[in-house]
Amino acid sequence: MYKYFSDKELECKHCEAEGIDPAFMQKVDKLRDKLGFPFPITSAYRCPDHPLEARKNAPGAHASGRAVDIAVRGEQAHRLLQAALDAGFTGIGVSQKGGVRFIHLDDLSDSEGRPRPHVWSY
Ligand SMILES: [Zn+2]
Repeated sequence: MYKYFSDKELECKHCEAEGIDPAFMQKVDKLRDKLGFPFPITSAYRCPDHPLEARKNAPGAHASGRAVDIAVRGEQAHRLLQAALDAGFTGIGVSQKGGVRFIHLDDLSDSEGRPRPHVWSY
């Protein structure tokens, strides 16, 4: 279905439910193709019962199926950010401190309690 990603790595890690949005994932696939380096996906779809979603007031971007966290750092993180902005991703979360380094991408539209476009850190 995707050139670079298996359904397995995109499912909910809590219950193996599949819920990634195919149109969103096509954009990620294209970005991966353009950049030419591996995108280890640390989190993609998360069902509303996933522990990280269940503790929120309302399920977050990952529960929509239109978000991924990509383990990337340094120069590759810089290249990824530039390409993601060019590609129109509207939600960009940057975690680049300590052992767990990743960039969150989503393409959600502006909504109550979830402004877009938006950049945040963790
Ligand atoms: Zn789940």
